[in-house]
Amino acid sequence: MFPGSLGQSLAGRALRSGLWSLETVDIRDFARDKHRSVDDTPSGGGAGMVMRPDVVDAALASVEDRSGPVLYLSPRGRLLDQDFVRGLAGEPGVTLLCGRYEGVDQRVLEARNVVEVSVGDYVLSGGEPAALVLMDAVVRLLPGVMGNDDSGLEESFEQGLLEYPLYTRPSDWQGREVPEVLTSGHHDNIRLWRLAQAEEITEARRPDLWARYLKRRNEVPGKGR
Ligand code: SAM
Repeated sequence: MFPGSLGQSLAGRALRSGLWSLETVDIRDFARDKHRSVDDTPSGGGAGMVMRPDVVDAALASVEDRSGPVLYLSPRGRLLDQDFVRGLAGEPGVTLLCGRYEGVDQRVLEARNVVEVSVGDYVLSGGEPAALVLMDAVVRLLPGVMGNDDSGLEESFEQGLLEYPLYTRPSDWQGREVPEVLTSGHHDNIRLWRLAQAEEITEARRPDLWARYLKRRNEVPGKGR
């Protein structure tokens, strides 16, 4: 599963040139029986299987000299957002624990101070695609990974707003024209138009972000227009 799509494109090039690195650990290598089992039935009964604390702990111990937080991808975790992603991009490294079956025994999560992180309110069959999402979001923020380091600053969430609509050539496509202001060359007007569009879209689509943006704008003198 790894590096999966992260072996391609900008992230893949950055991986090959050493801007970031990836070490994968197969939890089965830490199993204690000849069947290499990592799971057992849930205490208290019920469906599915649970990943054993001793096996997961041994797998985590094998990378414990690595710096940075240990995160468990889990639908119960705090929602992954751009602020959290930015924080992770500033860490020297991150250890990601991918669950399978019903999940991981609670005791090893507590013993190792594992932080649970969710990629959304839906259930995946394993933590690996969630880990790829998190890694993609973090890797693109690492210095030197994106072609133009400024391009990230304008994107959705970076200013607390969703992104304004994007256009390129041709200026007339099937009778639909690029908004005139964008071809005016007037940078202040373009900036104000984009901000107004971003605000309109955010207010209409994401009342939660909009409320937070308004609060922040009122707190920071000179913020917004
Ligand atoms: N029994 C769990 C529950 O009800 O919350 C779901 C377990 S899920 C089938 C198996 C694994 O997929 C989880 O241990 C977790 O690692 C991963 N996973 C599933 N959904 C996820 C999400 N929304 N975010 C992050 N990881 C997720």
